[in-house]
Formats: sequence, C-alpha cells, structure tokens
Amino acid sequence: MQKLLKTIALLLVITTVVFAAGCAGQSKENATEGAVEEVTEESVSAENGSDAVFRSSDGEMPTYVVGTEAQFPPFEIVDSKGKVIGFDVDLMNAIAEDQGFKVEYLDQDFAGLIPALQTGNVDIIASGMTITEEREEEVDFSEPYINAGLALAVLTGNEDIQSVDDLKGKTVSVQTGSTGFLKAEELQKAGIIAEIKDFPHVNEAIEELKIGGADVMINDLPVTDAFIAAQPGVIKIVGEPLNSEDYGFAVRTGNTELLTKINAGLENVKASGKYDELLADLPNYMEE
Ligand code: GLN
Repeated sequence: MQKLLKTIALLLVITTVVFAAGCAGQSKENATEGAVEEVTEESVSAENGSDAVFRSSDGEMPTYVVGTEAQFPPFEIVDSKGKVIGFDVDLMNAIAEDQGFKVEYLDQDFAGLIPALQTGNVDIIASGMTITEEREEEVDFSEPYINAGLALAVLTGNEDIQSVDDLKGKTVSVQTGSTGFLKAEELQKAGIIAEIKDFPHVNEAIEELKIGGADVMINDLPVTDAFIAAQPGVIKIVGEPLNSEDYGFAVRTGNTELLTKINAGLENVKASGKYDELLADLPNYMEE
C-alpha cells in the first residue's frame, strides 16, 4: 500500500512537472510570439519611419518657396481664381509630391527672380527660365525639363518682316531680363536692330506691337503661341525659330540637397509617364 501511495505521489510529481514544463513552454512561446510581433511592428515603423513621420505632420515636411513670373503661359499664369497654374507649376508640384516636400508660389517680375533667389526670398525658380552660361554663374540649374526657342512676332497685317534678315532699322519689343532681350541686344550690337523697348511682362511687349510702338517682338515661341491662341488674329509668328533653348529649375548656388531632390523627382516624374501627361496638356492651360 505504501508502495502504491509512493507510486501515485511520484506520478503526481511527474505530471505536475510535465504540466508546469508545458505551461512554461507555452508561456515562453507566447513571450516569443509577443516579441516577434513587437519586433515586426518596430521594423515596420522603422522601415516606413522616415516616410510616415515625414508625411504625417506638415511641420516635418519642408516647404520651399518657388518664385515665378505668372504671366508666361502655358508655363505659368494666374487663373480666374487668382491661383498660379501652368506646366511649370504642375511639374514642380509632381516633383514635390514625389520627393516629399511642399511648395508655395510667389509671383513676381522675371527680372527680379534671380536676386530673390540669391537673397533667400525664394528657394526655387520655376519660370520658363532658360539655362544660360551667364545665369549658371549666379544660380544652379536642374537638368533641362523642356526645350523652347525664340521667335519673331509681328502684327498679322505686317508683310514687311518675314525673318531676321528684315530687322534692319526696326524697333523691337521684348521682356526685361529675358533671353529675348539678350537676343535683341545682340542684334542691336550687330547694327541690325535700331531700338529695343523692354517691358516687365510679355503681354506688355505685345501691346507695344499693337499700338505701333514696335515693329517686331522677340519672345519664347510656345509663349507667343499661347497668347495667339487666347487672342487670335492680332499677331503672328514669322520665320524660323531664332535658336533652341532649354528651361531649367534654378536653386541657390551650392544648394545641392534641393537640386538633387528636384533632379531625382524630375527623373521619376518622367519615368512614371506623368511628365508626358502634362506635356499633352500644354495647349490647354490658356483655356482654363
Ligand atoms: N525663357 C526666357 C528666359 O529665360 C523667358 C522666361 C520668362 O520670361 N519667364 O529668359
């Protein structure tokens, strides 16, 4: 009997130990599972960490001020609600979205854009600005984002001027500080153009043509085209484009961090097909 009791007691002990061990095993498993879950959660937030933190709170997302002269359709123009729209704006917005930064647009005269960038009033110029060697000395340009060129425009009734060969002794209207202005200076120095009249905005250079204050205007071809589309039958483009120019976004000299973002964003926006979409929309900006 005593032997039986001893056996039962031993069995109880063993059962208890095995049960305890089982429980221990299980709780260890639970603990491990818990730990695994925790690690997984941690690594998820770590992986998306920079992104999530970046996007969740506006305070964390840098905002850059973009300087633009918004009277230069289809690249930048103010719509009826006072909002700056256009190809440059949509492209810059797409780049900003891709790179996780925000942008605010500051509309100002073209000739003041580079000084505004240099003094820190704006961080980026998106204003149909041609990449030129002279400007490269003052700012850093992104990769080119579109190609344009200068063209001559005259009143529709003018049969006198067909090309640059007909500019001898003529008065030219241009936008102040533009590459059209530089081309006019070049033609004046060469003894071809007699007088240059420059205005802060392209529409004022067009007005000068209309009132007979200038014989011809030199301006970026797609922009003159956009003005013609908005008001047909007043002026026309004559001759071949005078040159080929590339537009770039500009940042302060040495701001490689921002320039790298803009170039990476531009590449991604091109690769995704978004750029082509915007390009297809180019003729529509004047009608909005
Ligand atoms: N592309 C021309 C330039 O860079 C004109 C630009 C503009 O007027 N917005 O000078």
